[in-house]
Amino acid sequence: MRAIVIDKSENGTTAKLGEFPEDALMDGDVTVRVTHSTVNYKDGLAITGKAPVVRRFPMIGGIDFSGIVEVSCHPDFKPGDEVVLNGWGLGETHLGGYAELTRVNGDWLVPLPQGLSRAQAMAIGTAGYTAMLCVLALERHGMTPDQGDALVTGAAGGVGSVAISLLAGRGWRVIASTGRAEEADYLMSLGASEILDRAELGGRARPLGKERWAVGVDTVGSTTLANALAMTRYGGAIAACGLAGGMDLPATVMPFILRGVSLLGIDSVYAPKERRIEAWARLAKDLDLDKLASMTRTIACDEVIPAAHDILAGKVRGRLVVEI
Ligand code: NDP
Repeated sequence: MRAIVIDKSENGTTAKLGEFPEDALMDGDVTVRVTHSTVNYKDGLAITGKAPVVRRFPMIGGIDFSGIVEVSCHPDFKPGDEVVLNGWGLGETHLGGYAELTRVNGDWLVPLPQGLSRAQAMAIGTAGYTAMLCVLALERHGMTPDQGDALVTGAAGGVGSVAISLLAGRGWRVIASTGRAEEADYLMSLGASEILDRAELGGRARPLGKERWAVGVDTVGSTTLANALAMTRYGGAIAACGLAGGMDLPATVMPFILRGVSLLGIDSVYAPKERRIEAWARLAKDLDLDKLASMTRTIACDEVIPAAHDILAGKVRGRLVVEI
């Protein structure tokens, strides 16, 4: 079968579109014919080898997929069912979604949410699902739009674009932080009310700044997250999910101890099944599908490797769906 195979050589990581033997699929109780996958930031790291995402070689890349069940010994799934999978080590420790067929643990699968096509589910993908996990975490923390504005960093990226659309749809006034001024119209079309040059959150990390937002979804980390916390209003919260700007956090405790600000950590990979089902159900209900279409570009398998380099260079706008 055709697959994007990541391997390790003396010269580092290699990735190429080629053949992979079907009989080398890993153990699992459900075999799925993959129809769509995506390119997320983590896929960029895995394909280029810029971070040690892949922990088994050879690996089939792709941290998420949607598809149709072919064979199942799992009580919840039967042939013909449409399913979605993201996380659980797919593309890291378990053969991933850039392949015609995959075999997985049925407990990892989520039924395709009603109202979404398989292509739309992957337009959302890990990035959009993570944006929803951030929104759910802020809501669980008791945050509501009457408490102030919502900051989204890495706004023109995948998580950022979906987060803007979701937050604006729930009534938040969204401040979109981006390094791409040319994407201002795009970000406004998703629901942003204000554009903030990302340089304002970069540079030097301040212990405290003017209180500007009640909540935030941060995909960037590092100084950006430190300054986002420093400028959060009394009692506010930032959901942190990313490291596009770096994995350090040069912050002080001042926002926590003087303003009662909370930092909410978001992991999508091992989020429990109930939370996944909740997130996918909310995405199907809340996300404006016209806006989803406007942030999505569809590519073929042979475009994935160049796209992996582009996403790390911050050149991808919104979401990329891969037709397998
Ligand atoms: P994208 O590349 O689509 O988005 C990242 C955005 O961050 C870019 O579009 C850019 O936005 C901004 N950015 C890039 N480089 C820098 C930099 N050096 N300094 C400041 N801003 C920068 O990636 P995704 O949306 O797929 O993922 C975003 C982050 O979230 C990644 O770090 C990813 O690993 C993480 N993630 C974590 C998950 C989890 O489980 N915790 C799950 C999914 C994603 P702009 O051009 O608008 O400035």
